[in-house]
Amino acid sequence: MKLNADKWFTEVYSDDGCALSLEFSEKLHEEQTGWQKLEIYQTTGFGRLMLLDGCIMLTDRDNFIYHEMMTHPVLCSHPDPKRVLIIGGGDCGCLREVLKHKGIKHVHQVDLDERVTWASEKYFPDLCESNNDERAIFSFTDGVAFVEQAEAGSYDVIIVDSVDPVGQAARLYSEDFYRACFNALSEKGIMIAQSESPLFHKSLIESMQSRMAGVGYNDISSLFFPQCTYPSGWWSASMAFKDGKPSEFRKVDIETKYYNNDIHQAAQAVPQFMRNSD
Ligand code: SAM
Repeated sequence: MKLNADKWFTEVYSDDGCALSLEFSEKLHEEQTGWQKLEIYQTTGFGRLMLLDGCIMLTDRDNFIYHEMMTHPVLCSHPDPKRVLIIGGGDCGCLREVLKHKGIKHVHQVDLDERVTWASEKYFPDLCESNNDERAIFSFTDGVAFVEQAEAGSYDVIIVDSVDPVGQAARLYSEDFYRACFNALSEKGIMIAQSESPLFHKSLIESMQSRMAGVGYNDISSLFFPQCTYPSGWWSASMAFKDGKPSEFRKVDIETKYYNNDIHQAAQAVPQFMRNSD
C-alpha cells in the first residue's frame, strides 16, 4: 500500500530504519513559533495530533499513558509532595495529572514556548481542563535558567517533560541541569525525566542516569511503558531520588486510565538487556 502524503503523516526514525504513519483528514494549524514548527492535525484513528519540528508530541488517543506515567509514580514515591515543578510540558497533560493529587499546594509549569500551551488550549481542551486551578502557575521561559535561579530546596518533585535532546532542549539532559534540579529539590525530593526509548536509545538512558548519579542522586529507578506513537512504541522515564528510594509507595485513589498500584511496581521491572551495559 503506497501512502499518499496528502492523507498520511509519517515520522521517520532514520537512525533505526523505521517510521510511523498516521492517516489524517485535515491539517488544523501550522506556525513557526519563536522556537519551533508547531503543527496540529485531525487524524482518522488517533484524534488530534500535535507535532513539534515534525516529531509527534501527543495524540488524543494515547497521551494518557505518557502523562500518567510521568506523574503518578513519582508523586506516589514521595512521602508528601506539595510543591511541584514541571519543565517543558507545554501541552498541560502532566499538569492535569499532577493536580489530581489533592495534597499538592502548587505546581509551576515552565515551558519555553507559550504557543504550545495556546495550541493545546485550543485543540486539546481536555488536557487543559485544570489550567484554571488556583494551584497552577505558568511561566514561559527557558527551563534551565529557571531552575538555576530557583531557591534551594523549593520543590518536592521536578518533572522534566521535554522534547528530544536537540536544540533548546539538549541542555535539559545535561549534568549542569541535573545538578541545578538537585539543588532546587527539598531533602526527600525526586526528579523524573522522560528518557526516550529503551529499544532505540539505551545508551542515552544509561548516560542520563550516569549523569544523575554523578551529581548526587543516590537512587535512580527506570520506568518502562508503552507509547505507541513514540519511536519504537516503547518508552521510558528515569526517576532520580535525592534521599534514597522509599521501600513503600503511597496508594492513592485518583481517576486514571493506565496507572494503578500494579503498574507502579511492574513499570520498574528492568528488562534483561537493560541490565547489561554494553
Ligand atoms: N511528551 C513529549 C515528548 O516526550 O517528546 C514532550 C511534550 S512537551 C510539548 C515538550 C516541551 O518541551 C515543548 O513544549 C517545548 O517548548 C519544551 N521545551 C523545549 N526546550 C525547553 C527548554 N529549554 N525549557 C523549557 N521548555 C522547553
